[in-house]
Amino acid sequence: MTAHKSAYRSLTSLARDLSRCRACAEAGYPLESLPVRAPGAGQRAYLFGQAPGIVEGEERLPWRGRAGRTLRRWLELEEDDFYATFYCASVTRCYPGRAPTGRGDRTPTPREQELCSFWRDRELELLRPRLIVTVGGLALRRLLGLASLTPAVGERYELDGTPVVPLPHPSGASGWLNDAANRERLAAATALVRDELARLA
Ligand code: SF4
Repeated sequence: MTAHKSAYRSLTSLARDLSRCRACAEAGYPLESLPVRAPGAGQRAYLFGQAPGIVEGEERLPWRGRAGRTLRRWLELEEDDFYATFYCASVTRCYPGRAPTGRGDRTPTPREQELCSFWRDRELELLRPRLIVTVGGLALRRLLGLASLTPAVGERYELDGTPVVPLPHPSGASGWLNDAANRERLAAATALVRDELARLA
């Protein structure tokens, strides 16, 4: 049964309730995994993606598959440094299953996104990150309300005084990087992330 406290005193107690969350299943949505968890502790940056893939859902850990390897290559971070640097979260935390069309994974419905925003809001209150990196269009939309990803990549935004740097999704299914102008946008965005991380260090 899903438990929501009105306030959490630590990320550890929040993670305990989050790991047992079934709010979307209880609302009738066909989830195919339990929530993934953010490994590590003490991170100063918050990574906000869309939803776990099938590998992440099975391992209950974020960014374990090919997209995660691509993301780490973009950021020039080895696996251990990546998880030590970023508290990894996403718009929804359970593998949503395949899309009805059979192409790719199902995009979580707006209601599922809304249900899961409870965890994001509590995490941001507790973590107070010094940098937020969004990954993909849905995460950008949910966090900053920006409708279009492409012009946002390479830009720096703020959320309540915290810098926010948008990245595209590293999924191999996306043709976004086939455009040379988008590759330049990505290079500018990853440089911004590295600059912000250097500032934190
Ligand atoms: S996607 Fe989020 S709100 Fe929905 S069941 Fe998983 S953890 Fe809970």
